[in-house]
Amino acid sequence: MSVPPVCNVCDKEEDFLVNMGNLKKLMEYLNNYKCKECEIMETKLIIEKFIDTQTNNIRKKDKSESINSKTNFYQLLKVWKFYNKENFDAKIGHVTKYKGQPLIYLKLYDSYYHLNADTSYRGIENFLENRENDWQIILNAVGNRNLVTNRLDGKAIKHFYLYKLK
Ligand SMILES: [Zn+2]
Repeated sequence: MSVPPVCNVCDKEEDFLVNMGNLKKLMEYLNNYKCKECEIMETKLIIEKFIDTQTNNIRKKDKSESINSKTNFYQLLKVWKFYNKENFDAKIGHVTKYKGQPLIYLKLYDSYYHLNADTSYRGIENFLENRENDWQIILNAVGNRNLVTNRLDGKAIKHFYLYKLK
């Protein structure tokens, strides 16, 4: 089956066809498809809202300003990584102010997740490398099952502190 993708934001139909062997993959692609223009627009909005371009930190946001898709979440982390290029010690948040605290929230279906301020460059890098994998909820450092990983081996990602709220 070959179909032209339609942008989920502006409804523009593309003038090329996509064809994938796997129907599930195709549906996922089509359901998340955005045209170039909308993708650029969305990236701009993410930067404006979440990146403090003075410090290159992610701004602290309340639950009421949750990110609401994995795609946007990965996009934000990608942008942050770009702003902090190869600064391996960089933390996503202002650590003296927000150490161990939720910096941003993510809402997927009915579940909330929070990413803590002391998450750092290496952790983000590893999480982005594994972005094609499903998420698993594993035991945290004190034995509660609420830590998110996307590593295939189900181990925690070092320096990456994403927790699922009960
Ligand atoms: Zn569009």
